Amino acid sequence: MEAEHVRNINNSVNMESAKRSQLTTSLTNKPEGHVLVLYTGGTIGMMRNEQGVLVPIANAFVKNLRKYPQLYDREYAEKKFGAMGPLVLPVTATDNRRVVYNVLEYSNLCDSSNMTMDEWIRIANDIKESYEHFDGFVILHGTDTLSYTASALSFMLESLGKIVIVTGSQMPIFDTRSDGLDNFLASLVIAANYNIPEVCVFFNTNLLRGNRTTKASASSFEAFHSPNFPSLATANIKIEVDYRSIFRSCALEKFYVHAWLNQNVGLLRLFPSITTNLVKVFLQPPIEGVVLQTYGSGNVPTNRDDIIEELRAATKRGVIIVNITQCATGCVSDTYEAGKLLKESGVISGFDMTPEAALTKLAYVLSKREWDTETKRQMMETNLRGELTAGRPPTMQDWDLVEAVARSLRLSSAAELQELGSILFPAMLNVAVIRRDIVKLESLKGYGADISQANADGRTALHIACCEGDIKVVRRLLKMGANVHIKDRFNRTPLTDAIEYDRHEIIKVMLQCGAHLHGNALLIGERMCAAATAGNTKRLQSFLLAGADLSQKDVSERTPLHFAALHNRTEAIEFLLDHAADPNCVDMLGQTAAELAEAVQATDAMRLLGSFRQKGTVNGEVAHVDAKS
Ligand code: ASP
Repeated sequence: MEAEHVRNINNSVNMESAKRSQLTTSLTNKPEGHVLVLYTGGTIGMMRNEQGVLVPIANAFVKNLRKYPQLYDREYAEKKFGAMGPLVLPVTATDNRRVVYNVLEYSNLCDSSNMTMDEWIRIANDIKESYEHFDGFVILHGTDTLSYTASALSFMLESLGKIVIVTGSQMPIFDTRSDGLDNFLASLVIAANYNIPEVCVFFNTNLLRGNRTTKASASSFEAFHSPNFPSLATANIKIEVDYRSIFRSCALEKFYVHAWLNQNVGLLRLFPSITTNLVKVFLQPPIEGVVLQTYGSGNVPTNRDDIIEELRAATKRGVIIVNITQCATGCVSDTYEAGKLLKESGVISGFDMTPEAALTKLAYVLSKREWDTETKRQMMETNLRGELTAGRPPTMQDWDLVEAVARSLRLSSAAELQELGSILFPAMLNVAVIRRDIVKLESLKGYGADISQANADGRTALHIACCEGDIKVVRRLLKMGANVHIKDRFNRTPLTDAIEYDRHEIIKVMLQCGAHLHGNALLIGERMCAAATAGNTKRLQSFLLAGADLSQKDVSERTPLHFAALHNRTEAIEFLLDHAADPNCVDMLGQTAAELAEAVQATDAMRLLGSFRQKGTVNGEVAHVDAKS
């Protein structure tokens, strides 16, 4: 009896440990999400010096991060990348990807009150340089001018397909009680796991659209508000994303950086008894754009013709003047006579833009050489990155399809409705893609479907469309804002699918929209080697169109040409040679493709490669070249 009891305990212990080890394996086997952190300065990274004063200390941030187990899984990181490699977060049970992150520390760690437009341009360019190597970006920044930076970046990063999160903190991350740790960790996890192709601000559990934010408190952990737009996501026990409010670029173009800004801009805030002279001087050249902060819903005094005259004269000279409200929330309108006067004097509406968004948008719009003044004025009134609400915002009523189903299921709360939408829409989108029903796709979007919403396998309508191969459907999805970077549970992007199905036209369109090969180059090499082994020239062409290097080696340092030679695949050999594959590459045994062909007496391959026969040595150094003509 006792023995039985002990056996049962042992069994259950074994079961438990098996379950645990299964869980551990599934956790350690999680796919990785790669994030680049740009550490520009600010309180978040500061440390106390001997006098207890907060200062930024060069090259100390990363060293310190490595000491914190919440921020650095030493065992995993060192095993995989070595002691000086990228940092890795401990795995979380709730998120799909393990976060691997690199930190780029700026040489001049900057209190953000010293930031200028030059720093914004530098940040934008740094993102450009590393764009293809990371899934998302986190910018550590001082809080004082954080909203200006986030707003400016939202305009400069054109056709953005990946997430950029700007964050900071009220207390240094290494202080015992700090908001910095939560802000940094949540930003990393969101950047690695969620496809939100926007410049965002993360603070105190809220992910906000960057160009909607404003610093609202100098002391509260809830330092940033988004007065006229709801949070994009909240990070409580669960991270909940409101996919319907995400702004997606609908232009069929690649991500690029507009790295210029016009500095001749300013903010002018009206106040009772403001003098004519002040307004006049403010509007003088070289000023080219002014954000005018008026009262209430966009009013100026109706008894001040002098001010209106100055404004009219300036707009006639080509100065762009944008009207926004001084109120913390709300929008300007021309309901009152006072508002109409402004419109008549050539002042345009900034709707519900924050001062930070309006100012940085002006600096961006004015720097566009390809736009004339009228286009610039129009652009200021157009919603370019979700920064303003013009017209009626979409309401729950527009969601009537899901509502009808919800009613029949007797669901009523907004949360239940949202959840139902996230289940129904991906399935409906997929059916529309498979049926090539573009009208249905449009109407689903009209009903409130997020075009990039993934199904349970993490696959989006664009993944399915790339497999199905109808270029019209693919184009339409892209025009509706479908994102090209989303990875499914098997780590495949829509581009991976287009390659697997050899959809050449689709591959070209995807590249035009910023898609790129991702992941380990060796693995891409292996897949091309497999294609060469099978003599699958069409697949090699797919990789070539997708931007792959046809001389990419696999783990044994063999190129596709080695495999094509070994298996006597003449068409593949010809294709590879025609497309600049390097016949002089040697594998880990020091052998060229020609030598492999000779070793297996692949006669056609020997003939094609004869002129490139080369003797190599085991360590890869070339011993002599025997070029037969
Ligand atoms: N003055 C600091 C800065 O903006 C404040 C902070 O980081 O919160 O850089």
